Amino acid sequence: FPAVRQDKPEPGRNSFLLRCRQVNHIPRRFRLHLFPLAFMPSISFLNHLGALLTLWLLLCCGAPAAENGRILMVTEATFPPYEFRDGNTILGIDPEIMREVARRTGRELVIEDMSFDSVITAVVSGKADAAASGITVTPERRRKVDFSIPYVEAAQVIIVPKGSPIRKREDIRGKRIGVQHGATGDIYVTRNIQQPERFPNGALAVAAVAAGKVDAAVIDQDPAKMYVAGNERLEILPEPLTSESYAIAVRKGDTVLL
Ligand code: GLN
Repeated sequence: FPAVRQDKPEPGRNSFLLRCRQVNHIPRRFRLHLFPLAFMPSISFLNHLGALLTLWLLLCCGAPAAENGRILMVTEATFPPYEFRDGNTILGIDPEIMREVARRTGRELVIEDMSFDSVITAVVSGKADAAASGITVTPERRRKVDFSIPYVEAAQVIIVPKGSPIRKREDIRGKRIGVQHGATGDIYVTRNIQQPERFPNGALAVAAVAAGKVDAAVIDQDPAKMYVAGNERLEILPEPLTSESYAIAVRKGDTVLL
């Protein structure tokens, strides 16, 4: 039985010695049962171990994928010419930019297609490294992610059936307006005009105009041109509603990728 006497323990003596000293105040018959406790790691040691384990998990498992030799880019691939599908391949301006970023940083580019209203969340949560999806820089989004330098000047435009009585922005008030859920067209119409009808993507909002389910759609100018080029019964009104810039979103503080 270890009987270590220390009336005045030096500060910082390890807890094993302190524990043994306290054992001397415990009646002898109980000491044997308590003896194994002397070999238990102290609570503070367990705390440190826990902290170290958490740090290790964060560094190894929660580490940005970019540090594991790849860049996981998220996008919503119904936004030509910025991102669109050709069979199983996602093509467009944003994948091209990110492919070049991957090439210059010696990493592999992995692209995941998801709904537009999830791309920023995927970056914030650490699931993805970059959201490249024709994303307009807005003050609300700036609070969640860091943005690259802007690479395109963009705008929201109104698409109507050819010959529609809607000719300018004031005319859409009180009409059925289709937008893409969570996109800047949605934000603009909701704040400045009225509650719009929300679709999962711009293509579906435009299809709703073509099908007569809504009177107009408000979406980004470049995809609007592509969609209207494929449907001669639609037109884009000449006056844009907004002036915006696209940039690529990364996790806050990810200076390596920026
Ligand atoms: N530019 C718009 C936005 O950022 C729409 C982007 C998109 O649909 N991919 O909200």
